[in-house]
Amino acid sequence: MKEFDFIKTLTNLKKFHLSDNDLGIGDDAASIGNWLIAKDLIVSDVHFKRTAGWRNILFKLITSNVSDIAAMGGKHPFYGLLGISTDGSMSLNDFSNVLKEVLDFYQIDLIGGDTTSSQSGIFLSFTIIGKRNSSLLTRSGAKPGDLLFLSRPVGLSKVSLERELNIKNHLIDPHLHYKQVAEVKLGGLLGTLSCVTSCIDISDGLGRDLSHISESSNVKIVVDEKLLHVKHLEKYNLDNPIDYVLTSGEEYALAFTIDRNHISKFENTISDYPNIHKIGYVSDGYGVFLEKENSELIDISKLGFEHL
Ligand code: ADP
Ligand code: MG
Repeated sequence: MKEFDFIKTLTNLKKFHLSDNDLGIGDDAASIGNWLIAKDLIVSDVHFKRTAGWRNILFKLITSNVSDIAAMGGKHPFYGLLGISTDGSMSLNDFSNVLKEVLDFYQIDLIGGDTTSSQSGIFLSFTIIGKRNSSLLTRSGAKPGDLLFLSRPVGLSKVSLERELNIKNHLIDPHLHYKQVAEVKLGGLLGTLSCVTSCIDISDGLGRDLSHISESSNVKIVVDEKLLHVKHLEKYNLDNPIDYVLTSGEEYALAFTIDRNHISKFENTISDYPNIHKIGYVSDGYGVFLEKENSELIDISKLGFEHL
């Protein structure tokens, strides 16, 4: 069974307490009352190499959580719980100093967690609690006619991962993909705007992540190839830079849709964010497609990463 089919089997479990205003499984974070809650789990040799060091590993773990709060339009205060299960293959001497640096960076209060040993492998889990904003940004609100935006150019995470895994010899920091920063400030702003109809963070790859919006909102999403930014990828001489934009995971940029009727007001509001760019539109139908220069549509909904 594939990851997303597995998760679907969990969504139907009986709910004893969730109200209509709350949100359970199926989005970047759950929403209960005024709070947003998200959890991530990363595993050595699957999500990180030990050689990356604790600073990079913890930054990646916590960024992925903070990013899920940002994708829901959430804001501070942030509280966190850390789970660690380790086989002793990495020294814990500087662990709490490094953790402090990352928690300080995102202004998170650590309020709990659990520590155990493991027979083999290092497992790290973080649960974050953040505040719900005036608007709850979900994957399910996109409407035909909306315009699709990306918060910043993407693709470099994949270039750096290929370097770390020695797949390609790109001249890039092999740990750059651990260092992507969650869009805390922008998420907090989008969460105050009623013109934002849906939002997701790019964790598995643009194509696959947009397929969650398509599926939850029951719409077709079209990404216009000529609007995708590739200039930042030019110096790596990639065979197909667009492919990197569509498939690079762990980017933690936000993709979001805006009600076309409020577009000029929206553009004024985001004048402090020069990296935000339009990449496509929403229409009637289903699926996620790349629109080529010659108007050909290519299915990109499966491009990206799926566990299991
Ligand atoms: P993200 O990439 O934003 O972290 P995922 O694709 O991992 O989101 O998860 C999608 C949804 O499925 C989320 O609501 C998440 O909480 C839920 N989910 C994933 N794994 C489990 C699990 N083992 N038990 C319960 N819910 C899960
Ligand atoms: Mg997410």
